[in-house]
Amino acid sequence: MLQKVSIGRHCYAPSANVENHRALVGDHLVDEIATLARDLKGVRIAHVNSTAFGGGVAELLARHLPVLQALGVTAEWRLIHGEPEFFTVTKAFHNALQGAHYDLGERERNLYLEANRQAAQLLEHEYDVIVVHDPQPAALRHFAGARGAKWIWRCHIDSSAADATVREFLAPFIAEHDALVFTMAEFLLPGLDGGRAVFIAPAIDPLATKNMDLPLDVCRRAIADSGVDVNRPLLVQVSRFDPWKDPLGAIHAYRLVKQEVADVQLALIGAMAGDDPEGWAMLERVEEEAAQDPDLFVFTNLAGVGSMEVNVFQRGADVVKSLREGFGLVVSEALWKETPVVAGRAGGIPMQFPPEFDRYLVDSVEACAAEVVYLLGRRGERGDFGRAGREHVRRRFLLPRLIRDELALIRRLV
Ligand code: UDP
Repeated sequence: MLQKVSIGRHCYAPSANVENHRALVGDHLVDEIATLARDLKGVRIAHVNSTAFGGGVAELLARHLPVLQALGVTAEWRLIHGEPEFFTVTKAFHNALQGAHYDLGERERNLYLEANRQAAQLLEHEYDVIVVHDPQPAALRHFAGARGAKWIWRCHIDSSAADATVREFLAPFIAEHDALVFTMAEFLLPGLDGGRAVFIAPAIDPLATKNMDLPLDVCRRAIADSGVDVNRPLLVQVSRFDPWKDPLGAIHAYRLVKQEVADVQLALIGAMAGDDPEGWAMLERVEEEAAQDPDLFVFTNLAGVGSMEVNVFQRGADVVKSLREGFGLVVSEALWKETPVVAGRAGGIPMQFPPEFDRYLVDSVEACAAEVVYLLGRRGERGDFGRAGREHVRRRFLLPRLIRDELALIRRLV
């Protein structure tokens, strides 16, 4: 049996009750969801990915599943197993879909296919819809056969410039799915049937511990308790320690800012994800940098940093930075808290920005530093950007919209 991720009693939490989103997202959306859920009663849905913790996909599923269950939709979350070597290969696939070159050898192909073949054997339950996330389980459909289910492949990666070898290897497996979901049209992998593609952006849960409203003085006290000086400017980056998230670029930008704003501090908050073997080496690099700089802080989930701490830091920061993202839930998370963001003009980041503040989308570390300095000197601008950011996220990137889009797709398929 594929390992099941238990979501426990979260379906009874107030955040899982879509009615509690009504005041934020409006009646129309909540009513649409209720109708879709009624239509889908009895339809059995499974989501399959490769980790229950760390990273955006785990975050999305952990928020999404309780809402579906609370709506009476039968939905489960299952994990594909793998040896460490499998995750080394799939992380390389992830990077290659993001544009890194990868010499994909016979051994890696076999390792990947064997893990998917074994996972298919463990897929014992009967489902009507199976949603497969990202490249790790992308060949599950191939080995499992259709089994009377509709299969959806959900890509969370900015695959607009994917490496040709990996793309060509995965494409035949991906093509066996009934629907392909990408965050935006630009990410559609060439060679796949555009007619089966649907574009759905991720979303954040405004009622989750990570995003719930918190009084600023509580945030400041919690931040102070971590050793950061709350009376000095604070930059924050929240991300996995992944070369693509460029934490070293964030440190570089912070050092440039420091030449202008001597008392600035940087906190890097990074989760170690179950399916990301590259994180450890990057964490070591980042900790070496921090060891020489009393204004550079590194916090990880290994030391107990969880959703509440992420919330507190995103709320208490003067500016949040994010250099490269596929979508980058962290961008919406910070903007929702009215914290300004300076971020790379890449992947799914620009769509999360309120259009009138797109000057804070940057193309280099130097530009990032310049915009951070500009914002740190302008409290009014920070306030305007934050408020516009929250409104933009409210309209487009809150969980009910994502649930509506996905349920509508599922209803079309079954
Ligand atoms: N995150 C977290 N703790 C950390 C670092 C990240 O909870 O120390 C969360 C972050 O708040 C966000 C998710 O992990 O919800 C990362 O998603 P994102 O889309 O930004 O990036 P991904 O890791 O999927 O590439």
